[in-house]
Amino acid sequence: MENKRRKVHEELEVVREGFANGVAPGFPLSNDEKADMIDKAEIAFGQFLDALKCDWRNDPNSMETPRRVAKAYVNDLWEGRYTAMSPITSFPSDGYDGVIIERNIPLTSMCSHHHQTIGGVVHIGYISGEHGQVIGLSKLNRIVELFGRRGAIQEQLTSAIHNAVDKITEGNLGVIVTVVASHSCVSCRGVKHQGAAMVTTKASGAFRDDTNQARKEFFDSLKINNGGHQI
Ligand SMILES: [Zn+2]
Repeated sequence: MENKRRKVHEELEVVREGFANGVAPGFPLSNDEKADMIDKAEIAFGQFLDALKCDWRNDPNSMETPRRVAKAYVNDLWEGRYTAMSPITSFPSDGYDGVIIERNIPLTSMCSHHHQTIGGVVHIGYISGEHGQVIGLSKLNRIVELFGRRGAIQEQLTSAIHNAVDKITEGNLGVIVTVVASHSCVSCRGVKHQGAAMVTTKASGAFRDDTNQARKEFFDSLKINNGGHQI
C-alpha cells in the first residue's frame, strides 16, 4: 500500500465547466487572468448599479463598491471556480477500521438561483477499512471550500463533496456527508423567513446498509458535547 496524490480538479469535478457550480473555462486561472476578470466585472457591476439608479460614483461609501464586489466574487465567494486546491495525498489506514468523522466544517457558499449567500456546517464521515486509504483531516475542510466557494444548490453540493471524498478514499467501505445550512435567499428575500435550515445527506456503502450501525454512529457523534460548542 502506498500514498497516492490526486489533483482534485482533474479527477473530482462533476459539473459542466462554465456553469456557476462548475469551474471557469481555463481553470485554474493565473493571477493576471483573475486581475483582468476583476477589471471587467467591476465595470459591469457599476452598470448594474446604474440600472438600479444608484448614484454610486458620488457616494463616498459606494464609489469603490463595484471593485469590492468584483474582488469578493473572484477571490472569495467564487474562489473555487478560479483557484485550484493543492493535490490531496491519501495514506494507508494502518489497520484502523473504524468510522472517521469530521463535524462542524464551516460552509460559506452562494445559491446558484439567487446569488445570495448560504452559510452552515458540513459533517463528513467515512470508513477507510483496515486496508484502505485515509486523508489528512484538513483536506476535508479544503474540499468543502473548493466546492462551496462557487454557485451551488445544496443538494448538488452535498453530492459533489461526497463524490470527492469517495474517490480520494478509494476502496472505502462507506462515505456520508450531511450539510446543514441557512440560505439568505429564504431569509432575506421571497418568503423572508429567518432561522430555517436545510439538511441534506448523501450516504454510500456501510452508511446505507440494512443495519444502519455506521449511520447511527455518525449521527450520534454529531450530538456528542464538544466542550460547550453547540452543533
Ligand atoms: Zn436561492
